[in-house]
Amino acid sequence: MNLLSVNAGSSSLKFTLIEMPAQNVIASGLFEKIGLAGSFYTIKYNGEKYTREVEMVDHSVAVKVLMEELINLNIISSLSEIEGVGHRIVHGGQEFTSSVILTEDVLNRIAKYNDLAPLHNPANIMGVKAFMKALPNSIQVGVFDTSFHTSMAETEYLYPVPYEWYEKYQVRKYGFHGTSHRFINKTISEYLKRDDLKVISCHIGNGGSLAAINSGKVVDTSMGFTPLAGIMMGTRSGDVDASILEYMNKKTGKSLEELTNELNKKSGLLGVSGISSDSRDIETAAAEGNERAILAQEIYAQKIANYIAMYNNILGGADVICLTAGVGENSKIMRKMIIERVSSLGIKLDETKNDFRGEFRLISTEDSKIPVYVVPTNEELMIAMDTMDLASQSE
Ligand code: ADP
Repeated sequence: MNLLSVNAGSSSLKFTLIEMPAQNVIASGLFEKIGLAGSFYTIKYNGEKYTREVEMVDHSVAVKVLMEELINLNIISSLSEIEGVGHRIVHGGQEFTSSVILTEDVLNRIAKYNDLAPLHNPANIMGVKAFMKALPNSIQVGVFDTSFHTSMAETEYLYPVPYEWYEKYQVRKYGFHGTSHRFINKTISEYLKRDDLKVISCHIGNGGSLAAINSGKVVDTSMGFTPLAGIMMGTRSGDVDASILEYMNKKTGKSLEELTNELNKKSGLLGVSGISSDSRDIETAAAEGNERAILAQEIYAQKIANYIAMYNNILGGADVICLTAGVGENSKIMRKMIIERVSSLGIKLDETKNDFRGEFRLISTEDSKIPVYVVPTNEELMIAMDTMDLASQSE
């Protein structure tokens, strides 16, 4: 069956058309600047890349254009060939513990969590509605970033703040990147033929989070109430003392909103280096001796190493560490810097094995106390797998 895996943002729509269960990517693409001036799209198919500028006032128009193009480019011959659409939904609160078939009623339930993810959930829902209209006979499935983390215990997800913040206002740790961590756990568990693995999954991309997973269940994860918490990221600070906000508000007159925005968009690698949020630029500058770039790299690696050590503790000793996403899959320098900082746990990098990018590989030495693997993530495929499973259950 052909399935679409979709990620709708406030002004963008990313799609992958996948033939399942063969896991064959037929086409993929990105619609950008939806609802803005200069909207355009790119579709990749058969080794070719098509880019066109078209006015797209909203997601419904973008989906209509996509459907027309899939037929015009002979990617499919009829819309009935798309049997299902899997949607990335950022927030499912503590209610959605797994992926679900989307109906109007379910969408209303998801909308209850819009306040928890105001930048993402309304856009995700808009995307779903556009596809429901364009493909009324296809199954629509919601796959939540938060679901995989709903197995956390109170001891992990509660913040030590007044209890009513949780009871009345749903303030707790939710965690994100769940679809990626679930894919990593599934891949490594299948590879090592074990379903009782204790895994430290490190998703290190522009955004980044770690998850401690025991026998397929998340025990703890580094992102929190929002994706701002945890390790240092490309532009996010990760964990900082909350009092900084009040202090900076008084010192600079900037509002809480402005300051929170700076913690999300102007901090991390970008904030410390003053150069870029992209670790490739930081690596180039560091190689040229730029001190702030070197400092940014060192803080970045140390924060990740600290979480690895903490999660090794929480798991009572991990069986395996997996590195994934843009930096984890591609940056041999950052992998080395991170592993060096957990040497007290007896974890050792094999530098020869580490000399590659973008593939599934073991990168630790034979005598490393915990093996370390690079495991490329594939959230689109995980979404397609869930969609296929729910489609077959609903038949
Ligand atoms: P997102 O969180 O946006 O999904 P990705 O997982 O795609 O991010 O990661 C993007 C990041 O991966 C880039 O910002 C860059 O820092 C990093 N990256 C990609 N390729 C390389 C590379 N060859 N070397 C170092 N870093 C890389």
